[in-house]
Amino acid sequence: MPAEHRRAFLCAASSPGGGSSHRLWYDEGMDGVVLVLNQNYEPLNVCNLPRAFRLVFGARAEVLEYDHQVIRTPRAEYRAPAVIRLQDLIRRPRPRVKLSRREIFIRDGYTCQYCGRQSSDLTLDHVVPRHRGGGHTWDNLVAACKTCNHRKGGKLLEEARLRLARRPVEPRCDIYSVFTPYLRDEHNESWRTYLFLGH
Ligand SMILES: [Zn+2]
Repeated sequence: MPAEHRRAFLCAASSPGGGSSHRLWYDEGMDGVVLVLNQNYEPLNVCNLPRAFRLVFGARAEVLEYDHQVIRTPRAEYRAPAVIRLQDLIRRPRPRVKLSRREIFIRDGYTCQYCGRQSSDLTLDHVVPRHRGGGHTWDNLVAACKTCNHRKGGKLLEEARLRLARRPVEPRCDIYSVFTPYLRDEHNESWRTYLFLGH
């Protein structure tokens, strides 16, 4: 992940709050990122070390894994966390895949949902045609080859005597694509267990 993207992500991931009493030594030369898990162990976001320390010292998170660094202050030494888990469950809206032509094709495996042919020359078909009340939505859009799209025209499935290969639904957002780039850094190796938990 390019540095500027990483920074942007860190900014987006961190939220206001947390004490400021540790700030004296926090921001000096601390390197590294920390995986934040929700209370139910779901990967939530990535934060920087100062933020992670604030969460841990504020008893808002527990440390599950430590990394290689030891942070020294005049009075004490602290092992830097690599993975932390929040004490309270954060409820947040489910991340969603943005509806687009390309995402529909990916969901449908670049395969016509009527005849099953794979093609790089696909069209988008509204299962229930728009002029008959069909929406421009995940559950009403499918990939269709030109032949099938033409055959279907403005008709309903029954009228065109066509059947769908499978019911179109909204795909799940792959939140793991956000975290996996961090695994390229060997310092984050301990994240792996938690990212693929239950996968
Ligand atoms: Zn077809």
